[in-house]
Amino acid sequence: MTPAAIPFQDPKRRFVRFEREIESALNRVMHSGSYILGAEGAAFETAFARYVGVDDCVAVNSGTDAITLGLLALGVKAGDEVITSAVSAAATVAAILRAGATPVIVDVEAPTFCISPAAIQQAITPKTVAIVPVHLHGFAADMQAITAIAAQHQLKVLEDCAQAHGALHEGIPVGTWGDAAAFSFYPTKNLGCMGDGGAVVTNDPDIAQRLRQLRNYGFDPHANITQTGFNSRLDELQAAVLNVLLPHLDEANQERRHFARQYTQRLQSVMSVEGGLPPYDDGAVYHQYALRVPKRAQFMQRLAALGIQTGIHYPYCMQDHPAFAKYCQAMPVAAQVVTEFVSLPIQPEILQQHGAQIEDAVYDCLAHD
Ligand SMILES: *Cc1c(COP(=O)(O)O)cnc(C)c1O
Repeated sequence: MTPAAIPFQDPKRRFVRFEREIESALNRVMHSGSYILGAEGAAFETAFARYVGVDDCVAVNSGTDAITLGLLALGVKAGDEVITSAVSAAATVAAILRAGATPVIVDVEAPTFCISPAAIQQAITPKTVAIVPVHLHGFAADMQAITAIAAQHQLKVLEDCAQAHGALHEGIPVGTWGDAAAFSFYPTKNLGCMGDGGAVVTNDPDIAQRLRQLRNYGFDPHANITQTGFNSRLDELQAAVLNVLLPHLDEANQERRHFARQYTQRLQSVMSVEGGLPPYDDGAVYHQYALRVPKRAQFMQRLAALGIQTGIHYPYCMQDHPAFAKYCQAMPVAAQVVTEFVSLPIQPEILQQHGAQIEDAVYDCLAHD
């Protein structure tokens, strides 16, 4: 097999696109003498809160920590049950477990394959305290239904927005629906830095205050520790990179939507949304553009032979992970969809250069199947 000439993703191309601005930002940090919890981080928190449309943002070390600390700040404790989705990064479940809670993992629903509100309803017990919906591949989960269920049962909602910076549900930004929301700035996310990074956003000043303590050993504003915390801070170098890229996030999301529309227009004569095409949604931010292809291995091999690398998000649903199986409810939709998902390149810097070639190749592979 020829090595793939067109990579599935390449975060370096994103950073190099803004090379001069990033270099001067990194240089600025070096000469500032302040490397942790300084001006860059504070500026990013203000800007990102404004971007999402919430009062407060607390930057942390990763998306995983954002979920763990977010749940702890919402008051989740050992023995509590937290309902989440069967199709996500394993990080979502790992973060719930690290908060000391018991994950209750439920099925997803078409066409977005985000968590099913009906499955949430069925999984609620007297021990349930929170829901962690995941906005998979940049599509918002059904937050209208989920927040209604949460209100009815007095549950907290922490949105996992790691794949959905800037996405909308019914015209309202993700990250503003729940009590708090977790973001990741892992390099390949829609907004990424050059290392690990994450943030929690909220409109509740008490939650924000608890988060500031939790990320910094537990210190309160008087440097007292009444409840122990972690070391989970976004460093100044990463914050500086994010301060360069955040003003370009909407443009990047527009580019992703543009290329998603191009794929959809090109492929809709050979594949329907019911038959495997991702839905077209102006509120989605297309972190992934994932088709569902029953003969996936063959499809990926044919594209690889044409020099096009693809990805799988994710090869397993949560019940396939030995450490998570015991927390899983029935998940027939998730079990099926993880055998079919195949992600096409969608990073704007790659599509700008190779879009037509990829579209032609995918069309041919699907048309002659
Ligand atoms: C990337 C991701 C995470 C984890 O973020 P890290 O920054 O890698 O810790 C959590 N949830 C989802 C849905 C993700 O895609």
